[in-house]
Amino acid sequence: MKQVVVIGSGIGGIAVAIRLAIRGYNVTIYEKNPNAGGKIAEIREKGFRWDTGPSLFTLPELAYELFELCGENPETYLPYKRIDPICNYFYPDGIRFKAWAEAEKFAAEMETNAGEPAKNTLSFLKKYKELYEIAAPAFLFNSFQKLSNFAKPEFRKTLFKLHKLDSLTTMFKRNSNWFKTPYAAQLFNRYATYNGSNPYQIPATLNMIAHLEHNLGGYFPEKGMFQVSQSLFELAKRQGVTFHFNSPVEQVIYENKKVTGVEVNGNYILADIVISNSDAATFYNKLMPNVKKPPAVTRHELSSSGIIFYWGVNQNFPELELHNILFSGNYKEEFETLFQKKNIYHDPTVYMFISSKLIPEDAPAGSENWFVMINAPANYNQNWESLVQEARKNIIRKIKSHLGIDIEKHLVCEHQATPVTIEQQTASWKGALYGNSSNGMLSAFNRHANFSRTFKNLYFVGGSVHPGGGIPLCLCSAKIVDDLISNP
Ligand SMILES: Cc1cc2nc3c(=O)[nH]c(=O)nc-3n(C[C@H](O)[C@H](O)[C@H](O)COP(=O)(O)OP(=O)(O)OC[C@H]3O[C@@H](n4cnc5c(N)ncnc54)[C@H](O)[C@@H]3O)c2cc1C
Repeated sequence: MKQVVVIGSGIGGIAVAIRLAIRGYNVTIYEKNPNAGGKIAEIREKGFRWDTGPSLFTLPELAYELFELCGENPETYLPYKRIDPICNYFYPDGIRFKAWAEAEKFAAEMETNAGEPAKNTLSFLKKYKELYEIAAPAFLFNSFQKLSNFAKPEFRKTLFKLHKLDSLTTMFKRNSNWFKTPYAAQLFNRYATYNGSNPYQIPATLNMIAHLEHNLGGYFPEKGMFQVSQSLFELAKRQGVTFHFNSPVEQVIYENKKVTGVEVNGNYILADIVISNSDAATFYNKLMPNVKKPPAVTRHELSSSGIIFYWGVNQNFPELELHNILFSGNYKEEFETLFQKKNIYHDPTVYMFISSKLIPEDAPAGSENWFVMINAPANYNQNWESLVQEARKNIIRKIKSHLGIDIEKHLVCEHQATPVTIEQQTASWKGALYGNSSNGMLSAFNRHANFSRTFKNLYFVGGSVHPGGGIPLCLCSAKIVDDLISNP
């Protein structure tokens, strides 16, 4: 039986392990942390529970497919709800509205509250639905770096329609021209941050992220996001995948053009196939430092990171929903500060996620569990201690000015995440959440492929490689690696 070693138990690592175990490979995952899930983790204290990373579940069918492949009923292990409203938006001038799950209702509310003609929102969502349907088969569900894939009919279909992918203008320009009001443009520009990018630089193609949320739906697991990683972790174990925790892979061993195994805690473990679920830049810098690094990990700008406060709050705030955004008054300056100055912005866009709105057990009675996040640059050795204090003040001030809430009075307990802690916990290079950013017109081609061009039996899965970050795309990368291994 062929031995597969997976480095890391993030969602991508677990998913590829399940797929290969089903095919009869002997799969072992080595994870440096004491538990599985990578960025999909949780913290508990004083009766509060916080999901520490992802908060929005899209394309749940990709996770469900894994249970179905194993002949199990996904609803038993990962029940979820469609969320409605999807998000609650607050602008500095007092404009507020909710993004309802039903597109017509959302568009109508934006027309009433912010003056954006509903037809603009609906035509926008229709355009990017069409674009997604053209792009996804070739760019998300397959490796376009594998030349033989271009013979597949779905690739040829995409190739004939490349001009429709809206890749020659930026998201910002497209959205400013499409919408009458700055409110709608800013709302849709926000989707650039879903892969840690800058709306003023990424191709308008990435507007298809809004399609995932507004047309296909935003979801939430019944027990919170942690249930996504844990239910798949349990599924992997039922398929015979072996997990070793507290087991950092220290180096990958190779001979000529083949990897032969990995070194863990000083032991040499033989492998026929090695799959890295570690961030690609971390992988080359730490695990194969003597191998020439590919341009995908040396030449391109990193995605953003974040500063997150996990607050236990001793009151209920009915004006808030599961997901809330308090927008910055100057989005352009905010992104220039993040990407050009590598600093945090004094008037940041604040994202607030409160899972106790849907899961009352996530906070004690009469309380709420706030996850409050701002975008931050990756870690270039800034003074994070001082930046976190500054961010905390800016956020508290903003919550007061937008919502009239003096939140500091209500804090019962607090945890924090910074680019430094994210790097330490998940091995993301410089704490960047999604590997390279998608800034730049050719960004899709600048991600590391799911396979090594030098070593025949070395593969890559997860958010820093093709097709990109976020749970659904990590699950796509696992599917692609399975396909590459099974249909060489
Ligand atoms: C704050 C935040 C908010 C997010 N919001 C969303 C959201 O709302 N929706 C969404 O879909 N996505 C979101 N994401 C992105 C999503 O969480 C990630 O893209 C995804 O979970 C990454 O999975 P991965 O497979 O790349 O592995 P990771 O989660 O990056 O895990 C990699 C694992 O490999 C381990 N590892 C690394 N190197 C080694 C080594 N040498 N030896 C052993 N183990 C090693 C690490 O310890 C880690 O456990 C968010 C992420 C963050 C951080």
